[in-house]
Amino acid sequence: MSAAVENVARPSALPVLRERGQREVFCGLTGIVWLHRKMQDAFFLIVGSRTCAHLMQSAAGVMIFAEPRFATAIMEERDLAGLADANEELDRVVERLLARRPDIRQLFLVGSCPSEVIKLDLSRAAERLAQIHGPSVQVLSYSGSGIETTFTQGEDACLTALVPTLPAEAKGAEHNLLVVGTLPDVVEDQFRRTFAALGLPKVAFFPPRRAHERPAVGPHTSYLLAQPFLGATAAALDARGARHLPALFPFGVEGTTAWLTAAAAAFGIPETRVLSVTESARNRAQQALERQRAHLAGRRIFFFPDSQLEIPLARFLSRELGMELVEVGTPYLHQQHLAAELARLPAGVQLSEGQDVERQLDRCRAARPDLVVCGLGLANPLETEGLTTKWSIELVFSPIHGYEQASDLAELFHRPLGRQQRLRV
Ligand code: SF4
Repeated sequence: MSAAVENVARPSALPVLRERGQREVFCGLTGIVWLHRKMQDAFFLIVGSRTCAHLMQSAAGVMIFAEPRFATAIMEERDLAGLADANEELDRVVERLLARRPDIRQLFLVGSCPSEVIKLDLSRAAERLAQIHGPSVQVLSYSGSGIETTFTQGEDACLTALVPTLPAEAKGAEHNLLVVGTLPDVVEDQFRRTFAALGLPKVAFFPPRRAHERPAVGPHTSYLLAQPFLGATAAALDARGARHLPALFPFGVEGTTAWLTAAAAAFGIPETRVLSVTESARNRAQQALERQRAHLAGRRIFFFPDSQLEIPLARFLSRELGMELVEVGTPYLHQQHLAAELARLPAGVQLSEGQDVERQLDRCRAARPDLVVCGLGLANPLETEGLTTKWSIELVFSPIHGYEQASDLAELFHRPLGRQQRLRV
């Protein structure tokens, strides 16, 4: 596959190497792993192939602790006899599923890449099924196809599909805050307590844990992104009249403080109040990070593009832990949402957007970094070449936001280095 490579001058003044070649990333189906844990009355029905079923089983199989809330309807050759057959088969699968699982309130039909699935119009199917099973079950569709999405973009596509279902604000609604992006419940609860201590009157999280908790949205809504990969969701919220609050992402002490301060400022709460409310949590996190810094300072790190978390994490690792950034790759660089992050990266750091995996591997081998953050597919080959790797997927599956998790986040980078050191002794 050919690659177009260009150096583009950006407003952040950091050069960005843009690559459009072969990519080595997971597809958007992977997002179902954390989405289904968050949305407790949702079911994700992947309309796909055996490959999709295998991916989900291996990515999430160990996490099934009760009745599973995702499955794959496998579209095989026989379904190609006619699209009508495939639609009828899908209707039958959904009917059986909903009869067996009356607890389901939201059903997502998730598209994938096989050609037999692409031919199916899943948004039409969702509308048809919503007529049959609504209003007690809401049926929506989005694509998790590897042709269209990298793995965190699956969440973006899912939340974008949900935005039109959010109720409009009531007349005379108060100014309210919406936190956008899936957070583990424990982290969401910590942030809820902090917002309450700051005196923010009305705070909601999106996606909510249950369908009936969907927050209203409109011109009185200010929203904070908790994840950097939600560009389409943000655009859909903007179209509903909500206002984005630009901020660092809440990774590490600096990011969390800036994120909370941006929310507080929108409600007229001064930074001094944020600093006093968060003082003990900040101090604890700072002390814990000092211990991690002793292990990580000066170590050289290389990010392959995978989760879109790379730039905020690079900022955290370089500014709070003293790591040296060799290259920071990201599948997609949202200049507006990442403006504050980019402004805090060290001068001269090599950013790359998109991927041409062979070229990037060559750069990585030449640089011999201490730690490589990459997808599962690249990790083993790089380990056999003597490089130490960190699976980027772990960064999405682990609680990493906020003060309480700052040290755990640093530990995720320290652990593989420590393991490598022990192996060498
Ligand atoms: S959606 Fe595409 S990339 Fe993802 S598992 Fe299915 S076939 Fe593979």
